[in-house]
Amino acid sequence: MTMFETPEIYQGPVDPNGGFLCCGSYWRPKAGVTDPADFGEKLQMSSYIACAPDQPCLCGSGKLFQACCQSKRLWYPICPNPGLPGEAGYSLMRVQTATFTDIVGPFVRRKLMDDLRLHCTEDTSDRVFWIYEGNPGIQTPHGIMCFGDIELLHNHTLLITALSNLRMRILLSVLHEDCGQWMARPQITYKPMQFIDKRTGQPITRTPGTPASKRRRRR
Ligand SMILES: [Zn+2]
Repeated sequence: MTMFETPEIYQGPVDPNGGFLCCGSYWRPKAGVTDPADFGEKLQMSSYIACAPDQPCLCGSGKLFQACCQSKRLWYPICPNPGLPGEAGYSLMRVQTATFTDIVGPFVRRKLMDDLRLHCTEDTSDRVFWIYEGNPGIQTPHGIMCFGDIELLHNHTLLITALSNLRMRILLSVLHEDCGQWMARPQITYKPMQFIDKRTGQPITRTPGTPASKRRRRR
C-alpha cells in the first residue's frame, strides 16, 4: 500500500479564483474497534487546494488554470486520483452511478469476491458491498482512499458509484476484467451537484451530465 499525503483540511475563507475545493472519501477504523476484519467507517472530506494562474488546471483538462476553470463562472469541485499512472492528479467531480440490471448475481458475486483489489464491507442476502481501494491501495492520514463503490442488490442489480468519469472508467474496467465483456452496457445516471456562482457566491444545483443546450431548452 502506498502513502498519499492529502491536502490539509482548510478552514479559512476560500477564493474560488485562486484554487479548488477537493472532495474525497476514505475508510478508517471506527474509534475503539480493534478487530482487523472490521473495515470501519466511510469519511467524506473536502479541502481547498490553491492553484496559480500559470499552473496546469487541476480539473485535468491539460490547459492552464487561467485559461480554464479560473475564468469560468461556476466553481467546480475536483477529486484526487493518486496512483493512477499517466493521468493528472485530479479530475473534475461528476458523481455518477452505473446500473446493470438482470445480471447473474451469484456469478458476479463470486468473481468480485475473488478480486483482491476489492474489499467487501457488507455481505447479506439482500446486499453485498465492495469498495475499490485502487491498485495498490492508497493510505492517507484520513484512512484508505476509496475510489468507488460496487453494490450487488437482491442478486440481480449491480450498482457502481464513482466521483468522476475517470474513476468510473477504472471501475468499469475492473468489472470487465473480473466478469468478462459480456455484461450489457450500464445505464449511467449523474447526481445533481451544487456549484458556487463566483459572482454572487450563491450555490446553484446542476446535473453534470446534462449539456448546457439541453438545460437552456428545459427552462
Ligand atoms: Zn479546468
